Amino acid sequence: MDENLANDLAELPALLDAVRASATDLLTGIDTRPVARAPKEVGPEELPEHGVGLRRALALFRERWEPGFSGSAGPRYLGFVTGGATPASVAGDWLTGVLDQNAMSGEDSTAIELEQQTVDWIGRLFGLDQHTGAFVSGATMSNFVGLAIAREWLGEQRGISVAQAGVGALGPVPVLSGTPHSSIVKSLSMLGIGRDSVRLVPTLPGREAVDVARLGKALAALDGRPAIVVANAGTVNTVDFDDLRAIAALRQRYPFWLHVDGAFGAFAALSPEHAALVDGLGEADSVCVDLHKWLNVPYDAAVQFSRHRDLQLRVFLNSAAYLTAPTGTPDFGHLVPENSRRLRALAAWFSLTAYGRDGHQDIVRRNISCANNLAEQLTATGLLRLTAPVRLNVVCFTLADRATAERVDALAEAIAETGETFVTPTVYEGQPALRAAFSNWRTTDNDVDRAAKAITAAALALA
Ligand SMILES: *Cc1c(COP(=O)(O)O)cnc(C)c1O
Repeated sequence: MDENLANDLAELPALLDAVRASATDLLTGIDTRPVARAPKEVGPEELPEHGVGLRRALALFRERWEPGFSGSAGPRYLGFVTGGATPASVAGDWLTGVLDQNAMSGEDSTAIELEQQTVDWIGRLFGLDQHTGAFVSGATMSNFVGLAIAREWLGEQRGISVAQAGVGALGPVPVLSGTPHSSIVKSLSMLGIGRDSVRLVPTLPGREAVDVARLGKALAALDGRPAIVVANAGTVNTVDFDDLRAIAALRQRYPFWLHVDGAFGAFAALSPEHAALVDGLGEADSVCVDLHKWLNVPYDAAVQFSRHRDLQLRVFLNSAAYLTAPTGTPDFGHLVPENSRRLRALAAWFSLTAYGRDGHQDIVRRNISCANNLAEQLTATGLLRLTAPVRLNVVCFTLADRATAERVDALAEAIAETGETFVTPTVYEGQPALRAAFSNWRTTDNDVDRAAKAITAAALALA
């Protein structure tokens, strides 16, 4: 055995303690380290020919790389929709690496059963009791899988199997959506359906939600040709929601596959005051729910749900061996793009077991309340205005005066420089703006006060 490997094996308990001490240091200090800094390049490292052993590697990482890492696990990182990681989910993630299960088939381990159960729990949180699901690496992959099954369904309507004959046999595919996430367009590219297949349907005035009457007209214009409709449960800019029930009802008149991208917006189901926003979610043929965002498990985890496992199998089947499996339940390796798979479910199992529906409901409700609190504080100064009402957990705001792209970018930079908080830019209705997204279990009203102070001071300096 290589000397470093042998030493690390001999010293394993002490080394794991050293790693634990580092993690403690990082997590207890997360509240005081700068939230985000403009990263300084570390510079190239030589490929280590001999290695230095774990203890020295840990020291090198902490010295060289860790200082440039963001405080995205902390309570005032409000960029993108980043989520945090609950203590139990971190434990689950550690143990996933420790146990290193291949969650592809159930032949040698109960890991698959744990994933199955965790998927069922998550489906119950969102009222998806007619759906089956599987873990994938993120919402992009979840959207990809949902649209891949949709593609197979479209083929079936025309009497062909795209999985067998290829996408060329399908011809043009109409994909209708109001405000699709970029990952939908990317997925269509990966699926050979093509980015140009997207037909944007007008949204309601001043909204990102699709105008259902216009959607009905667009479907009618297809003259009975089957289509894919991508509905949104939570757009990234203003967290707007399509009327899912009304869209689903259109299926009585027009043939289409309904995919819902509920990456983080689906979590509205956990707040009784906001659950109506996702009414009708269970009617979808396929649903995307991200977990590394608002379930607060570490990257990378999402679930894809579908009501058509037969079609899913046709697309992702890796061999026919499952047909002889005694349970008749196909292994996950036949349902998703990955073959060998990390047991992503363990982090979610830990967090749901430790905190339950109540605990996760608390995160969602508290984050929504923090978003409303920040919106009030920002607009009270008169320096900033909202570009859309706060519907859930995101505050979309801009300068009240001369909100040019240069000034809004300068504001974003000045906010990041404070180290107190971090928000990310967007353009909404042609207007440069900033988004503050709340999705971390640690965030309190005290953090909102600190973020509001930093943002206001940066805006004042620009005035
Ligand atoms: C974040 C997000 C995605 C993409 O998710 P990843 O996990 O980054 O792949 C897709 N749709 C919506 C609405 C999102 O918010």
